[in-house]
Amino acid sequence: FLQEKSHETVLEIDLTKMVENLNYIRTRLQSDTKIMAMVKAFAYGAGSYDVAQILEYNRVDYLAVAYADEGISLREDGITLPIMVLNPELSSYDAMIRYHLEPQLFSFRTLEYFTEALQTSTEARRYPIHIKINTGMNRLGFDFADLPKLAERILEIDVLEVKSVFSHLAGSDDQKFEAFTQQQIADFTKAADFLSDKLPNPFMRHILNSSGILRYPEAQMDMVRLGLALYGITTSLDFQGKLKPVSTLRTVISQIREIEPGEGVGYTPKMPVSEKTKIAVIPVGYADGLPRLLGNGGGNVLISNTAVPFIGNICMDMSMVNVTGIDCEEGDEVEVFGEHLDIYEMADHLQTIPYEVLTNISQRVKRVFI
Ligand code: PLP
Repeated sequence: FLQEKSHETVLEIDLTKMVENLNYIRTRLQSDTKIMAMVKAFAYGAGSYDVAQILEYNRVDYLAVAYADEGISLREDGITLPIMVLNPELSSYDAMIRYHLEPQLFSFRTLEYFTEALQTSTEARRYPIHIKINTGMNRLGFDFADLPKLAERILEIDVLEVKSVFSHLAGSDDQKFEAFTQQQIADFTKAADFLSDKLPNPFMRHILNSSGILRYPEAQMDMVRLGLALYGITTSLDFQGKLKPVSTLRTVISQIREIEPGEGVGYTPKMPVSEKTKIAVIPVGYADGLPRLLGNGGGNVLISNTAVPFIGNICMDMSMVNVTGIDCEEGDEVEVFGEHLDIYEMADHLQTIPYEVLTNISQRVKRVFI
């Protein structure tokens, strides 16, 4: 309580809801399908360690981060789950091996460099790696034409253990991409079958992200990679009531004032107000991750259960909202997005997606776990 009150602007993370989301996802999966939870980008802004700890306790099978540093910091905090690193820098391979972080290898260059790092390390066991196949996203991954040479090379290298082969869906959240998604799943299956025929050891297969899990459960294979849905957000209307938003950006009103017709608000006001206007100043600004685009009526916050618009430009550490006619006082709670004010509303105002809103909340905003 004291901690919460000592910071007026907080990103509140409801770990109970996160576990409920995890359990809901589990009801959509067969009991032996493994879950890799995505905790990259500071666990979608929620705070990597606390999220990882609760996921470890709730028996997810794997974690995934984007960079080695993210994985190293989890290890230093005591997380022991297997961790896949999606895009490790070549210079981090030695450290990854020391910290038992498992790389995604997506090209011959990464395969050869990682093998070299292993051969010069003291690592005695075959080292777990994950092979990424490009099935049309055209981001990272081996192409189909690479597969014969890839299989041959893996057979020659005796320090690697292919733990999984996987791919990524480019449009699983969009009905328009249904045929494309099915094609990606079919192509991935062919690629994985090919490698399975060539390689001596069995490996796991996975292709589904959150909306894939919700919309294509028949393609769950051995493991799924759960990101946004864990944090309670989904584009699929069918599932919106089932998942609970985990992250709520809250603040309190610092000051209330009334201004007269003809006056403006904040830096370089766009236009003076035309009537007596009640203004609430809130201590959250663009340095906290609240984009300036929201200013001048570009978005809303929730005060006294009412959505009220920003007025004037968003400042670095503060912003102002128009609370004319709203019953509110200094010190009252403000929800910027989350529990009651759908993050999609802010994302839509910004013409972006919730992933960007969440991961832009800056590190100076205290994370409070409930
Ligand atoms: N798998 C990969 C390779 C990703 O890059 C991501 C996220 O960007 C995910 C899975 C999880 O996606 P989502 O958050 O949509 O579940």
